[in-house]
Amino acid sequence: HLQDTVTLNNGVKMPWLGLGVYKAQEGEEVVSAVKTAIRHGYRSIDTAAAYNNEEGVGQAVAEAILENGLAREDIFITSKVWNSMQGYETTLEAFDTSLRKLNVDYLDLFLIHWPVKGKYKDTWRALEKIYREGKVRAIGVSNFNIHHLEDLFADAEVVPAVNQVEFHPHLFQKELLQFNQDKGIQLEAWSPLGQGKLLENETLKAIAAKHGKNVAQVILRWDLQVGVVTIPKSVNEGRIVQNANVFDFQLDIEDLAAIEALNQDLRYGSDPDNFNF
Ligand code: NAD
Repeated sequence: HLQDTVTLNNGVKMPWLGLGVYKAQEGEEVVSAVKTAIRHGYRSIDTAAAYNNEEGVGQAVAEAILENGLAREDIFITSKVWNSMQGYETTLEAFDTSLRKLNVDYLDLFLIHWPVKGKYKDTWRALEKIYREGKVRAIGVSNFNIHHLEDLFADAEVVPAVNQVEFHPHLFQKELLQFNQDKGIQLEAWSPLGQGKLLENETLKAIAAKHGKNVAQVILRWDLQVGVVTIPKSVNEGRIVQNANVFDFQLDIEDLAAIEALNQDLRYGSDPDNFNF
C-alpha cells in the first residue's frame, strides 16, 4: 500500500509511490493536488526548485499534516537543485532557498536535477556537506547515466541513495537499472506514464483488461515489480486515487515480458548526454 517503503542504502525509508508535481501550478492547483494526495494516503511528494511550486507544496504539506493528524516525519519530501545553481556555494544557497520555500527544517531527499558538465562534482560536495549536517535525510542524483555515476564515484564520499531517471515501457533502462541495483542506488522513474503518451498502447490495454485495471495502473505496478520507485503526476482527484490503487494485483511473467518488449529506447524528455539548459 501507499505507505510501503523501500529502505535506501543509508537506512532511510522511502515510499514506493509518490506524487510528482512538475507543471502543477504554484498556488491553488499544486496546493489542492498535494492535499488531495495526502488525504488519499500518499506520503511522498516530488518537487524541484525548477517547478516553481515549492511554496505551494510546503503550504499543502503543513495543512495536510494538521488536517489528517500526521507529523512532518510521516511525509517524504524530495526537491532538487536546478542547473543554474550548480557549484558548491550556490548549491548550499539553493538548498536553503528550497527549505525556506517549503517551510520545513529538513528535507527527506535532495537531488542534483541534471548532470551539468564540469559542475556536478562540486554540487555533490555541497550535498554531502548538507547531508553530514543533518539537514537532509538522503542525497541523490537525477538523470545520471552510468558514466556520470562512475565519474562521480571517483571523488564522492557518499554514494547517492537515489537516481531519478526517465523510465517507462518505451524507455526500459535495463542496463542502467541493473547498474544502480549493483551499486545500491535506488532507481526512481520520472514520467512513468510517458507523460500520458502510453495510455492508449494496445498491449498495455490488453494487460489492463486482463487484470480489471487501467493502463496507468499497469505501468505503475510494473515499476514496483521491477524495483523502481515511481512518482506519477496528476492534479485530478480521480486519477490521483487511481494511480495509488496498484497494490492489490500482480503482473505475471508473461505480462512482464510483454511490457519489456515494448521498449524502444525512446525518450519523451531530454537526453542526459545532450541537454543545454
Ligand atoms: P507522467 O508520466 O507522470 O504523466 C503525467 C501525465 O499523465 C499528466 O498529463 C496527467 O494528466 C496524465 N495522467 C496521470 N495519471 C493519469 C491517469 N490515471 N489516467 C490518465 N492520465 C493520467 O509525467 P511527468 O509529470 O512528466 O512525470 C512525473 C513526475 O516526475 C513529475 O511530476 C516530476 O515530479 C518528475 N519529473 C522529474 C524529471 C527530472 O528531470 N528529474 C523530469 C520530468 C518529471
